[in-house]
Amino acid sequence: MAPVILVLNSGSSSIKFTLFSGDAVQLKGQISGLGAQPHLSLKSHVSDTRIDRALSEEEGRSHAAALDALLPSLEQELGGQDVDAVGHRVVHGGISLTAPVRITGEIMRELGRLEPLAPLHQPHNLAGIEAARAAFPKALQSACFDTAFHRNHPWVNDTFALPRSLYEEGVRRYGFHGLSYEYICAHLQQTRPDLHTGRLVVAHLGNGASMCAIRDGQSIGSTMGFTALDGLPMGTRCGQLDPGVVLYLLTTKGMTPEEVSDLLYKASGLKGLSGISQDMRTLTQSDAPEAAEAIDYFVFRIRRELGAMAAVLGGLDTLVFTGGIGENSVLVRRKVCADLEWLGLTADEAKNQAGAEEISAVSSRASVLVVPTNEEEMIRRHTEKLLGSGTVSA
Ligand code: ADP
Repeated sequence: MAPVILVLNSGSSSIKFTLFSGDAVQLKGQISGLGAQPHLSLKSHVSDTRIDRALSEEEGRSHAAALDALLPSLEQELGGQDVDAVGHRVVHGGISLTAPVRITGEIMRELGRLEPLAPLHQPHNLAGIEAARAAFPKALQSACFDTAFHRNHPWVNDTFALPRSLYEEGVRRYGFHGLSYEYICAHLQQTRPDLHTGRLVVAHLGNGASMCAIRDGQSIGSTMGFTALDGLPMGTRCGQLDPGVVLYLLTTKGMTPEEVSDLLYKASGLKGLSGISQDMRTLTQSDAPEAAEAIDYFVFRIRRELGAMAAVLGGLDTLVFTGGIGENSVLVRRKVCADLEWLGLTADEAKNQAGAEEISAVSSRASVLVVPTNEEEMIRRHTEKLLGSGTVSA
């Protein structure tokens, strides 16, 4: 029988979930507003059920309570079948966890030790794992890491120019969004093997945004570094920043580390620049000059990184847009691809507007693709592989 796999993506205030039977999505949804105004929304692709309801304060007080609130819907969908495995998205695997693993007590301890490297994400990922281990004690639990895809990138992209001792203790460029990049590579291998082995840049443009240079399916460099703050500006995160600015905020302005953290993670990026919104749709529809400037900065940084990545790759064969903005914003794609003939890249505006998968002009040497990412599917595949290897959760 096809394995039943639940994929969980546990964040600070939400748990996104997808239930698979084999490779078919049975149910998908999320619990949002944990700790504030909890809400459950889900859609079954099998029984056509939809749930959209507020959860009680009790049901939304923790990840564990929220999973408990979800169980009846899962059970109804499964009709007596067990969940064979739960696959978790985990932001940080550190230096040593370079591939998906089944979760044991020792792995949990290792993941806990990595919390200081990703304090805003890792603790919530672990809370989701704890909750799922309690709710599905017989299921295999797997951890799939956003950092793993990048772990073999070259040393020059792994290090900062800081004293070596810091590198040794783990102050490195990890890179994130690895499950998305892995999915895009697997998709190209299946559908466009001619492009899979070339010089590829993937622009994952969502609320979180990063780019990755990939050669022959292997990460060569990513715009994200030690944390998910670096690189491109994002919905509310600043992206690349002179570290002198942080020193200025701390010393001259006397801000606390928490205030600086809030500023860089939650009040910067598109939101900070525009003063209007973190949402690209809202900015695109706005007439305010600040909205246009925020979009211009976003596009400028993408183009800068694209040029740098093309230099590192020794040219460019394929550019892939993905993530909510990459998949949907005709405007951002048009602006990013403008005047890149020098790079051998010409977009076809009619194809761009039509939402085609390949939006490069026939005359373009480099291909430009729009590929919806699917991190949940990637986690499902990894988890199914671990199930097939006959391991059981400890
Ligand atoms: P996350 O990183 O949270 O997964 P998503 O990948 O869902 O984020 O991307 C969210 C972003 O995608 C938002 O800025 C949203 O405005 C943008 N987006 C979604 N649809 C469109 C659209 N049709 N046009 C422009 N931007 C869009």
